[in-house]
Amino acid sequence: MTLADFEQMMDRCVRCSKCKFLDGILVKSKKYSQVCPSIQMYNLHAYSGGGRVIMANALYKGRIGFSDEMLDALYKCTNCGACEVTCKMYYDIEPNEIISEFRATAVESGVAPMPKHKKYIELVDRVHNPYGEEAEKRQAWLPKDVDVDEASQTLYFVGCTAAYRRQEIAEATARILNAAHEPFAILGSDESCCGSPVYRVGDRKRAIDIMKQNVERFKQQGIKRIVTSCSGCYNMLKVEYPRFVDFDFEVVHISQLIEKLLAKGKLKLANPVPLKVTYHDPCHLGRMSEPYEKWEGKLVEVLALVYMHDPPKPIRTGARGEYDAPRNVLRQIPGIELVEMERIREYAYCCGAGAGVKAAYPDFALSTAQNRLEEAESTGAQALVSCCPFCSTNFRDGIRERGSPLEFYDLTELVARSIGGGE
Ligand code: SF4
Ligand code: SF4
Repeated sequence: MTLADFEQMMDRCVRCSKCKFLDGILVKSKKYSQVCPSIQMYNLHAYSGGGRVIMANALYKGRIGFSDEMLDALYKCTNCGACEVTCKMYYDIEPNEIISEFRATAVESGVAPMPKHKKYIELVDRVHNPYGEEAEKRQAWLPKDVDVDEASQTLYFVGCTAAYRRQEIAEATARILNAAHEPFAILGSDESCCGSPVYRVGDRKRAIDIMKQNVERFKQQGIKRIVTSCSGCYNMLKVEYPRFVDFDFEVVHISQLIEKLLAKGKLKLANPVPLKVTYHDPCHLGRMSEPYEKWEGKLVEVLALVYMHDPPKPIRTGARGEYDAPRNVLRQIPGIELVEMERIREYAYCCGAGAGVKAAYPDFALSTAQNRLEEAESTGAQALVSCCPFCSTNFRDGIRERGSPLEFYDLTELVARSIGGGE
């Protein structure tokens, strides 16, 4: 796709600013009524979903050119998709998809991505992870007493962040699979970045190359099912890969698999974990993991600026993301009490780290994490739980910076603790 495919959508943006806030009926307090971390931080329309749609449209129509100010607004966005959900309460406009195309256009024009992004993309090219770590160390997290079955058709795709930065999540995931007698393979030093950090900043061509190489590797290994413990990897494999490359693998997030294993009685949560927790929906497991259904109909103008889709187009509202599996698992851990924040499920507020923001604008990432931590603290929970190594890193940084009394756990850590293998 290109910006041209979104022209009518861009024309239809009425500048109502609904993409900045929860819909009125969903607001529980003024304090937590905003959904867009970017407009909350920078407070200028250009830093909102709608503002970026207007800029993209003006650029597409040749009325303005790229400028440093425009690129600043374009890249201070976590691609969290909250604007897309709230806009859809009223209109069929996809601000987040338009932002992705806008970034891809900027990269194709040679003015983007940002220097910090270029630096990590070079590392992905060279050592297949954005952290610049050696490929040989990619499975350093793997404890000697964990069983890996290289012949298994189920692959645990560890991902760069769990492999190098949040190894406790990789270890907990492997121990859970072992405890349930679910055989799994890993790619070890042959595993490569899923492409998310490259794709999200608009380097589409390079991201598609990474997708093709990964698919080839999965085929060579005889993989049929891919399990991820990272919401970013899950989103790429489940939603983005099928949009760009031939992809015929089942993709499962570990929270979904644990829920199934518990239902089958293959996993027993015996040890109590006495903790009052609140759950943060990762954007890429929640609203962004709803499949993007291809639609190839036509738009019929029935009145000036009023169009109908012929045939009707599936509307991606975010409601079909994964919200229940992590909560159902948490509720089955003895001793856990789950309390909810005000903004949850498809209306959840972002952790602040995604789409190159943590690398290029760390202060913005931290500030967003602190907004979310304040909301989590207000529930009276002792701990914040999520399902993504990238959320984990940003929230742990935010907790330290803020001096927050909250502990942070990935869901896999609590499950591993309850089955007796995570202390
Ligand atoms: S993107 Fe949607 S919600 Fe935002 S200003 Fe435009 S029409 Fe309104
Ligand atoms: S994707 Fe998220 S951060 Fe970016 S404009 Fe939309 S709501 Fe704001």
